[in-house]
Amino acid sequence: MQSFARGCKRRGLRIAFVPTMGALHAGHLSLIRRARSAADVVVVSIYVNPTQFGPREDLAAYPRTFRRDATACRRLGADVLFAPAGLYAADHSTWVEETQQSRGRCGTSRPTHFRGVTTVVAKLFNIVLPDVAVFGQKDAQQCDVIARMIRDLHFPVRLIISPTTREPDGLAMSSRNRYITPAERARAPHFHRALAAAAKLGPSRAATEARRLLKRQGFRVDYAEVANGRLCAAIFLGKARLIDNVPVKGARSKSADDG
Ligand code: AMP
Repeated sequence: MQSFARGCKRRGLRIAFVPTMGALHAGHLSLIRRARSAADVVVVSIYVNPTQFGPREDLAAYPRTFRRDATACRRLGADVLFAPAGLYAADHSTWVEETQQSRGRCGTSRPTHFRGVTTVVAKLFNIVLPDVAVFGQKDAQQCDVIARMIRDLHFPVRLIISPTTREPDGLAMSSRNRYITPAERARAPHFHRALAAAAKLGPSRAATEARRLLKRQGFRVDYAEVANGRLCAAIFLGKARLIDNVPVKGARSKSADDG
């Protein structure tokens, strides 16, 4: 992968990179399209990164649909599908850790998650040597953490944050949506609806109102907080933990301009 990337650079070709954990859905595909428009060569990675899962999380159960994913990448004109079998030596002992943006929100209930994300993304940047990397706004805190890591470690990579792709009823697409039952699926759109309604109240009232609306809908709320101009929340719905975020009316945000 590195020698391919170096070859691209010698020929003056720019590389856009879309890191994923596979089980690709329309949200991932929109990132690949965005990458296509941003550079000459598109590299998609599929790697279910073990270090970003907590000990009681869904690493073993995480959906793996490689053949379908490969077909989708080919159809969209991705140039390289990079799917390493493993990225960690048995005695791996080096971590990349961001210590501000990783705190709070998902970092509270998933204390080692973002260290796993920054470590794997740093590894992938060093392997793929991208000029541009495309991440989804759906994972707002991940975007904040990666932006900080790029800045602090001087990675020569431009970060593009691509808007959240939603189902027609507003539910943010996620590989984890397949964990929910039909009855839970019927309630799931209330998550985004509650956030959209609460965000209209502005930065000082949005989080309290979101918690109230989500509880009224019967969701178990992990958190609802305004961060970097967005109302971000996580709820538990059956076996799934779902996250979503929307811009807050009247707040300043550096992120993608979606709903
Ligand atoms: P994952 O495979 O879940 O690790 O996600 C890989 C990339 O796809 C991340 O940058 C995610 O933020 C992005 N992504 C996941 N779901 C969506 C979505 N519904 N809309 C836009 N981007 C998404």
